[in-house]
Amino acid sequence: AVVVVGSCMTDLVSLTSRLPKTGETIHGHKFFIGFGGKGANQCVQAARLGAKTSMVCKVGKDSFGNDYIENLKQNDISTEFAYQTQDAATGTASIIVNNEGQNIIVIVAGANLLLNTEDLKKAARTISRAKVMICQLEITPETSLEALMMAHSNGVKTLFNPAPAVADLDPRFYTLSDVFCCNETEAEILTGLKVHSPADASRAAQLLKGRGCRVVIVTLGAEGCVTLSETEPTPKHIPTEKVKAVDTTGAGDSFVGALAFYLAYYPNLPLEEMLKRSNSIAAVSVQSAGTQSSYPYKKDLPLDLF
Ligand code: ADP
Repeated sequence: AVVVVGSCMTDLVSLTSRLPKTGETIHGHKFFIGFGGKGANQCVQAARLGAKTSMVCKVGKDSFGNDYIENLKQNDISTEFAYQTQDAATGTASIIVNNEGQNIIVIVAGANLLLNTEDLKKAARTISRAKVMICQLEITPETSLEALMMAHSNGVKTLFNPAPAVADLDPRFYTLSDVFCCNETEAEILTGLKVHSPADASRAAQLLKGRGCRVVIVTLGAEGCVTLSETEPTPKHIPTEKVKAVDTTGAGDSFVGALAFYLAYYPNLPLEEMLKRSNSIAAVSVQSAGTQSSYPYKKDLPLDLF
C-alpha cells in the first residue's frame, strides 16, 4: 500500500480577462472549485492507478473539509486518518487566472499546519505496514520529518517531494529519503544552481545526492526527468513523449503519485523503466484541464504501463 502524509487544499479558481490592481474590484467570467494540495494530488494519482492508498491529513470541520473527505472516498482512498479540526479552516488556494494564463495565488494552509505527531502516532500501524510513504512540505516540517522517521525505522520506502522548497532544508530530510524527487525550481532553491536543462539538472542531482539520499530525481517538464542513484552513479536523462500540453498544473504530483505506485507494486522494475512510465502518466495529465480532474485512471491507460 501507499500512505501519503500531506496536504489537502480546496482550490478556488476565478478566471478573469486581467489581474486586478490593488484596491480594485473586477468581474471574472468563470469560477470553479477544485481539489488540490500536493499530498492529496499524489495520493489520488496513485489510487487511480490501482494502489491501495491511505491519506494522513487534516482538514477543517467545515463544508470544504466535508467535501474533501468525500472526494478522497470517491477516489477509493482510506480516510481513517483524515482528521477534521474545529481549530482551523480547510486549507485553501485562492487563484486568479487571466486570459494569458498568468496567475496570482494566495494559499492559506489552515488545518494542514495542525497535522501533528500525535496524529501520526494513531496512524503508526498503517504507516509501518505500507510499502511506500510519500510526504511533501505543505504540512509543518516537524510532522513531515516524524513521518519519514517512522517509515524509515520500519523499512518502509520513503518518497520525499520537497515542495514548496526552502533554501535551508533540514539535512535529515535528505538522509531519510530513499527517493528524493523535485522539479527544476525546487532544485534551484535547494542547490543555488540554475536548473534549465538536463545537464543542469544532472549537476543539481549530484549535489543533492551528496547530501545523503539514495535516489534523486529532478523533473524537467516537457523534457522528462533526470535521475541519479547508488547503483547508477552517472546521471541519466529520461526524456518523455511530445504531447500537446493544455494545462500542466499538478503534473509533478501526477508524476510523484505514479512513481509511488510503481515503487510499491512493481518493486522489481528497473528505476529507469519506472520513471519512463511515470513520465507517460504525467504526460497524460497535462493534456486536459484541471489538477486531479486531469489524472488518468488505470482503465484509460495502455496495458503496457502495468
Ligand atoms: P511541476 O508540475 O512540479 O512543475 P514538471 O513541470 O517538472 O513538475 O512536470 C513533472 C512531470 O510531468 C515531468 O517530469 C513530465 O513527466 C511531465 N510533464 C510536465 N510537463 C509536460 C509537457 N509539457 N509534456 C509532457 N510531459 C510533461
